Order: sequence, then C-alpha cells, then structure tokens
Amino acid sequence: MTKAIGIDLGTTNSVVGIKKLETDIIRNAEGDDLTPSVVGFQKKKGLFGSSQFIVGRPALDWMRQDPENTIVSVKRLMGRHFKDEDVQKALKEKHYPYTILALSSGSLHSVAVLLDGKEYTPEQISSKILEKIKKDCKKELGEAVEYAVVTVPAYFNDKQKHATRIAAAQAGLKVQRLLPEPTAAAISFGVDTLAEGEANTILVFDLGGGTFDISILTIVDGRFIEQGKGGDMWMGGDDIDVIIRDYVYRQTELENEIDDLSGLIEQLPTAEKNRFTADLKNKVETAKVRLSAQDSAFVEILGLLKDEDGDIVDIEVELSRTCFEALLEPFVDKCVELTRKIVESIDFEPDLIDKVIMVGGSSGIPIIVRRIEEIFGRDKILVHPRPMLAIAEGAAILAHRLADYYECPGCGQNVSKSDKSCENCDFDLMKNLANTGVVDIVHTTSHDYYLELEDGSGDLLVEKNTPLPFKTQGTFKLMSNEQRLAHFKFYNRVNDDQESIGDLWLAFDDPKEGLKPDQDSDKKRSTVQLDFEIDINNIIHVSAGLTEQDEVRASRTLSRGLADEKLFLNLEHAINEVNEAKNGFYVNIDFLHRAVGIARTINGVIDPDTGEESDAAILEAERQQQVARELVEKEGAVMGEIYYAEAFIHGYGHLLEKNNQERLQAKIQHLKDKNDRGSATSILAASDALNDEINKHGALLAVTDLDNAASLASVENPAKAPRYEKYHRDVHEALLKGETERFQRLMSEIMPEVNGFLNKQSKKELHISKGIQK
Ligand code: ADP
Ligand code: MG
Repeated sequence: MTKAIGIDLGTTNSVVGIKKLETDIIRNAEGDDLTPSVVGFQKKKGLFGSSQFIVGRPALDWMRQDPENTIVSVKRLMGRHFKDEDVQKALKEKHYPYTILALSSGSLHSVAVLLDGKEYTPEQISSKILEKIKKDCKKELGEAVEYAVVTVPAYFNDKQKHATRIAAAQAGLKVQRLLPEPTAAAISFGVDTLAEGEANTILVFDLGGGTFDISILTIVDGRFIEQGKGGDMWMGGDDIDVIIRDYVYRQTELENEIDDLSGLIEQLPTAEKNRFTADLKNKVETAKVRLSAQDSAFVEILGLLKDEDGDIVDIEVELSRTCFEALLEPFVDKCVELTRKIVESIDFEPDLIDKVIMVGGSSGIPIIVRRIEEIFGRDKILVHPRPMLAIAEGAAILAHRLADYYECPGCGQNVSKSDKSCENCDFDLMKNLANTGVVDIVHTTSHDYYLELEDGSGDLLVEKNTPLPFKTQGTFKLMSNEQRLAHFKFYNRVNDDQESIGDLWLAFDDPKEGLKPDQDSDKKRSTVQLDFEIDINNIIHVSAGLTEQDEVRASRTLSRGLADEKLFLNLEHAINEVNEAKNGFYVNIDFLHRAVGIARTINGVIDPDTGEESDAAILEAERQQQVARELVEKEGAVMGEIYYAEAFIHGYGHLLEKNNQERLQAKIQHLKDKNDRGSATSILAASDALNDEINKHGALLAVTDLDNAASLASVENPAKAPRYEKYHRDVHEALLKGETERFQRLMSEIMPEVNGFLNKQSKKELHISKGIQK
C-alpha cells in the first residue's frame, strides 16, 4: 500500500495530514497548511492561453475578478436535492455569487453549479479540491498518495456521504474510511486512549467558517458511540466577519458623515465593486484573526471608494478587543445556548462531560473559549493550538492505523497491520494499538429505511441508530405469476417525509420466451428474495432474485441521484400510463418486453466499481424508452409480429418456394435489426414491410393461426384445445398430401371460431404488474 493521508474536506478550508512517527500537516503547493475549499475557472486568454480550473488560494484570489465563476462552500451542496431547505436558503438569500441550479441531466432533484456556462455537480467541484490535495501531497512527499481517510460532518446523511465518496473516486483517491469530523477531533487529541473498560464522554465543539457542529461522543474500549449532535448549519466565522464589516460600515459612515455606505459600494462599476468587496472581506477576516492574539486591529482600504461628489472615502477603522467582544456578544450567547441545548437534549448535565474539545478556526477566539469554560470548568477544555488542523490530524492517525503497513513506533521500520510485535526491535505492537489506536468506530444509521410495497405501505428494513455494517433479508410475494418485473423502491423517512434513496428493478426472463403463454410449471415465479446491506460507509448494496430461480438476480449499489434514477422514474411512469390506457393484449405484451429490456439497460448505467455513469447506456435507455412510448401510441405489436413470423417460417417455411422463404427471412432479420437499434418510425416501416411479405401467404397464415390458437387454448381454454389440435393435425395432413378440397373444407369449418377466439384473446387486458407485497 502506498502512503495514506487524512483529509479534512472542509466547507471553508481543507487540510491534509499524514502520520509517520509524528502526525504532520502536509503543506500545499503555495506553502500553506490550509487549502481554501474554493474552485474557480479561468477562461482562455490570448492566443496561447488555456482555460483551466484553479483551486485553493489562487481561486480565492481569482474571486476578486470573477466571483460568478468561483465556487465556494460547495460542501453545503454535496448530496443535496435542489429543493433542500439549505440549497433554497443559499439561493434565496443570495449567499453565493455563482449560479446554483437543478442538474439538467441528472435525476429530477440533483444540484449543479455553473462555471463558464457549464454545469458541474458538487461532486465534480469537490473532486477538483481533492485532486489538488493529492497532487500537492505527491510534490511535498515525493511519492504518490493513493489512500485516504476523508472526514465528513456527523450530520451528513447517506447521500452526502456517498457524494463525498464519489468525489474522492473521481480524484483518484481510494477512501479507506469516511470518518465523522468529531471522531477525528477526538482521535487527534488522543482522548480515546483509555484504560480497558474506562469510558470517556466528550463534547466536540467545532466552530468553522460557515458551520457550527456540536457532538457528544462516548468512547469506550476504542469504540466511539455517538450520543447526540446539534449546532447550526449556517453559523460560523463568516457571520463574525459580517458583524465586523457592519461595524466598519457604521464607523466609516459616522466619520465621513455618509448615510448609506453600502449604497456607494453598490454604485461602483462591477469590476471595482468585486475588488472592493473581496478586499474588505479579506481585511475584516485578517483583523478578526489578529484580535484572537492581539488587543487591537485595523481595517483599512484607501483610495478605492468615492462618495456622490466624487470625493475619496477611505476606510480606516480601528477595532479593540473589548469592542470586538461586545459586538460578538449575541453570537457567543447563541453558541453557548446551542451547546447547553445539546447537553440537555440527551438528558446530560455539564458535569457528566469529561472533556470538551474545541476545534475549527473560530474556536481560536478567546471570548468563545472563556464562555465555554464557564459551563464545563476550565480544566475540561482542550483547545488545539491551531484548531483548524485538528480534524485532519485525527484523520491522518486513522489512515495510518488502517494502512496495511505502518511504521513501528519503536524503531520506524515498516511493520504489517497483522504483526503482533516488531521483527526488528521487538516492540509490542498489539499492546500499543490497544492503548493508542482506534480499535473500532461504531457508525449507526441516521434514518429508518423502508421498502415500498404495492399497496403503498412501507416495509421497515432497518431502524434508525442501527450499528453498521448491517445486513437484512426479506422474502416478498409477486402480484401475479405472469409478472416479468419486480420494482423495489427504497426510501428513508426523514422528519415524517418520505425521501427516495433509489430503486432496484429485477427483470425475469428472456423477452422472446414470454410471448408464449407460460406452460412450464418449473418456471413458476411467486416470490422474490431481497438482500439489503448498508456498509460501514453507509453505502447501500441491494440484490434481489427469484426464490424459485436463483440465477435470475439483479444487484446494485444505490446511486443516489445519478442519471439512472431519472430513467427508472420514467420507466415507472410509462408503465403506469400503459396500464391506465387499456391497450390491446399484444400492444401491452410488446411494451412489457420492452420494459424488461429497458430495466436491464438502466441497471447497467452506473459502473458498480467507480460509480461513473455510462453515457452509452444512458443514450440506449433513452432510445428504448422513446421507442416503447411511440410504439404504444401507434399500437405497434412488433415483438408479437416477430414471434409470429418466426413461428410461421419454422412451421410452414418448407412449403414455400425458396426465394419466398429467403425474402421472408430477410424481412424478419431487417425488422429485428431495426428493433434492436432503430427509431420507432423505422421499426414500424420494417414491420409494415414484413406484414406485406407475410400476407402473400394467406392460406398458410391461417394454418399458423390455427396452430397458435391450439397452443393458446391449452392454457386459456383447455376444453377447446383438443378440438383445435385435431383440426390442425388434419389440416396439416391435407396440406402435405395436396388435398386441396379437404383442406378448404376443414378450414372453413374451424376458422370462424378460431378467428373469434384469437380476436377475443387480442382484446384481453394485460395489466403490467411490477409491484411486490408482503
Ligand atoms: P471549515 O471547517 O468550515 O472549513 P475552518 O475550521 O477552517 O472552517 O475555520 C475557518 C474559519 O475560522 C474562518 O472563518 C476563519 O476566519 C476563522 N479563523 C481562523 N483562525 C482564526 C483565529 N485565530 N481567530 C478567529 N477566527 C479564526
Ligand atoms: Mg471543519
């Protein structure tokens, strides 16, 4: 295994660490510990310039020029629906100058951002950040990194975790583990190093740039058990910056006797306004950071802003620590209140908390630390000397622990994960691991998981707070024996709302076979078996098969919002529409077999290993859906026609002249080719051509009808079957012997009845069932 790193993929900043003997933060190409989680797009300039993505500090600088093409805080959008409260809030309150929209090619609700007019998913943007991290690590370490522990907020749901995993895969990183940020923080402080049987309850206070996360964990024997989580997803250092900025505005207005400073800024030409706003944000943030260590700081922007008369308005505001703390009071009060609330919510007293770990950049602010100390007592508070680095350090420690090889703490030689002691220096690795390592992290499900049944009710598969990994099995009944499709619809229940998490479609058999009435009792299908599995990373694997025919099986990893979901939804709608339309039997049979093919195609849209979408499969599924829809509209029953023509050739072809035989074969083949690849129009044209050809053989066709009626009757109306079979035998004999008169007599006796029977058959309704029941 190559080097394994720990990555804190933060909303504002990303940090990467590596543990050898000590845990180190790896500097990026700019020489910084922090890589701003910002991605910009620089358009081609001049003849030889090229368009490129820029990430980190350069992108943050780029924001001054082109805020609309600079993506910040993409973590907020990861794994979210377009309609999510958070996304809508970001849109409505115009949090970001870039464009957020619903992904046009994804499932109905996926989110995308625009860079230079092109849509990117949050995963793609995140992967750009991870790509830079990976590249910079290689430069700094002199060796490629391949494996990483990536941290995610404790509140991240399955979709958000999945999106993070996809982002890492796209950046070419193999994720050893997605680690909750509070757990990473605990690991970095070593508060998990306890004697056997001893338990520690810790509160992790993580106040970052845009989010405030509080978690309470109990650690016992290397297991991390989540007790509660809370905070505010829209609270952090950015808000403090706004508080300072507003103060700076007010002071400047007072000093310069201006009524509306923000109005003046609005009036600046766009380029200048962008520069001014970015400069101000920068200076305000610098002043804030200074105030954590010093008694006062300055915000100064000279010569950029003019008033109505064209006179320069300089910004020159001094801010003392005392003044800053007074301004911050409401903000700090809210932090304190949220912290108390989470402790209460799990029926705890502050006394029961053993340690409070303060991480995230904004935990560097002394007034915040003091107020938290007041709740829990000073001796319990642990503040990281550089609180922004703690989480990456914890991730690095776990990455190291999970690596196949790691360095012996005794002598630094490589030892294998399975070694009990070091070959080189005899160091007791097992004992060391138990004392210092993370033995196990207990992840639990954050929601209930259900399977939707035909009657609309939900079958509970997994309960909230179930430890992961988790596996369950269930047996479900099909709605009918003739069913060719089973649709498994999975959903979460989140605050009483049903949130779809994906579908599995099981298609049963070869489309051709299904045109014949099912006579083979061995192939009875009545129940399906479902395996449902959530792995340690919250990835859901589902697999279903026919109980009676285990080789008929479909398996997949739920993709959560990729293109296949939209395709599945279209298929579901199309089937429902066809069922309501009351088409003829053969039209529906035709559609059913197309639906089976479509389900199979969609099952191949997502690569099970990389999670990538196959454009070819998406296009093919779309073609098939389009064809199926148009054929239903035009009452095409092409599958039936092919089957009929082939039965005709098989039974009576030898009675035709050779060139007629060949022409018929060619027309069948042509129709099959079109059916496999063509549009609905070309399929219908080929079908007309085949019809014209086959209709030339009227008498023999009638015999084929008789033959078909006989086998249909054996299933549908067994009393009639022997009579049709007898006639068929006699007719066939007359035909072979060339007894024209007898042939015609027999046919005129039986065909009116046969035609009536077949006609009735073609008008029968066929409901396409896809549901399952308990
Ligand atoms: P995130 O987890 O959201 O990526 P970080 O933990 O990196 O965020 O914290 C970034 C925030 O911390 C920014 O708002 C930054 O201004 C603030 N910050 C960093 N250092 C200090 C400091 N010494 N004092 C006050 N705020 C700080
Ligand atoms: Mg963070």
